[in-house]
Amino acid sequence: MLRTDILVIGSGLAGLRAALAARAADSRLTVHVLSPSAGPSGSSFANRNDCLGMQVPDPDDAGFDAEVLRLAAPGFADQTLVRQLRLEARARLDDLLRLGLDFRRAPDGALEYLPGCFSAAPRAVIFNGLARAHTLFRGAAEAAGVGFLDGLAARELVVADGCVAGARFMDRDGGEVDVSARAVILAAGGPAPLFERSMCGPGNDGLSYGLLERAGARLANAGFVQFFWNDAGSGRFAQPGVILRPGTVLHGPRGGLTLTAGHPALAQAEARARHCPAGYGLPDAILDELLLAHAEEDGGVRLTTAEGGETRLVFCAHAGNGGAVVDVDGMTCVSGLFVCGECATGMHGANRLGGGMVLATQVFGFRAGVAAARLGSGTERPPASAFDLLPPLPPSESSALLERLRRGMQRHCLFGPRPGLRGFIRELEDMARSSLTACSALTLARELLPEARKKAAR
Ligand SMILES: Cc1cc2nc3c(=O)[nH]c(=O)nc-3n(C[C@H](O)[C@H](O)[C@H](O)COP(=O)(O)OP(=O)(O)OC[C@H]3O[C@@H](n4cnc5c(N)ncnc54)[C@H](O)[C@@H]3O)c2cc1C
Repeated sequence: MLRTDILVIGSGLAGLRAALAARAADSRLTVHVLSPSAGPSGSSFANRNDCLGMQVPDPDDAGFDAEVLRLAAPGFADQTLVRQLRLEARARLDDLLRLGLDFRRAPDGALEYLPGCFSAAPRAVIFNGLARAHTLFRGAAEAAGVGFLDGLAARELVVADGCVAGARFMDRDGGEVDVSARAVILAAGGPAPLFERSMCGPGNDGLSYGLLERAGARLANAGFVQFFWNDAGSGRFAQPGVILRPGTVLHGPRGGLTLTAGHPALAQAEARARHCPAGYGLPDAILDELLLAHAEEDGGVRLTTAEGGETRLVFCAHAGNGGAVVDVDGMTCVSGLFVCGECATGMHGANRLGGGMVLATQVFGFRAGVAAARLGSGTERPPASAFDLLPPLPPSESSALLERLRRGMQRHCLFGPRPGLRGFIRELEDMARSSLTACSALTLARELLPEARKKAAR
């Protein structure tokens, strides 16, 4: 049994921001970050673009709140959290500048501001070099006295009498490691790896929703995953608003379609070209639905472009917009359990402004760290007996199970419910008895059912 005051699970932008803030708030507290690897991981520090955008609204830019809340439908958003993003964006950008991240600048040296996806307002900055960003973040955390334990994946959050007591981890050899803590900050990333085709960086198995569900935390927006169309061969991003034009031929398994100028979907092409992920509840999703209606069983779409080129597009999970419902300090309904980054929600809903997630990792990572330190300094150490009652962890999940699960997610859970979803959910219910990954997938898949969507909208 290891003991710490503040346990941070995950070492992406959210986890490291939270750990730094917790140590800075109270240097008498021990703060430990546990994650599967010591190197750059997850979507923050190992995504394929090697750069990240971050929204930076001015504190009095109420247009930011209006944009975020408009995009949140048909999901859930909390305007208090959205406001907090706006109020603290500048301070968190200053932190990143002090850390020395490599931001893109105009020729005169000023930061370059660009519009993010779904927005025309140029208020997003971009930094390059994610591995270097990781080195800077981790170096700053080590210098501040944060402890790191690598090679460990959380498999269970330990809760006793409604309070978090720590977490149980699995090491690389399948051994169990228990960590008791006064406060726990979950920052283990989003659900994209649950899909056969995912764009996120390595080191995340998509367990956050399962960990939260089993701990009794309230989740929302779990069914709203962002998907991008990519070329199956090169892996490069493909913009449906540009590719779908008069003369494009879609080769579906049930017959083809040649697009003509009057096709109603094409009226939305210009709007669709303003964002990379497909947009939930937006009229321009008609283009994504048109592609999906011509998908083969594995979700791939064969098409001939207007210029006569043959290509195959695949829909890839990029990032989730769902997660734990948190208050303005990142606290969940489980006392002492804080959640930040891609596994928390409410600061965005079904859709999110491009650059909004990096901002959320910094604002709510910081706030969760400070609040966890405040709580940790005044809380009794949880009794070790909270761990005694736990059954041993099930063994590592078999690659056959994971393959079946990811294939099923790609087939039945793409951008809303697809045929066969109810049957797949029954399969997941079966798997979830022994598999945490299946529990995560089940939490997401259930949110796609029409009855869950209706309930969320009320
Ligand atoms: C290609 C790509 C481009 C993107 N571009 C942008 C952008 O420009 N702007 C923007 O705002 N967002 C962007 N996003 C989304 C954004 O990068 C992520 O949502 C964000 O970085 C998530 O940060 P995080 O710290 O919550 O999670 P991650 O960065 O994914 O980190 C999760 C951490 O948790 C660890 N972990 C996972 N499971 C466990 C476990 N069970 N136990 C212990 N540790 C665990 C992982 O190893 C990792 O260290 C992009 C995503 C992708 C994939």
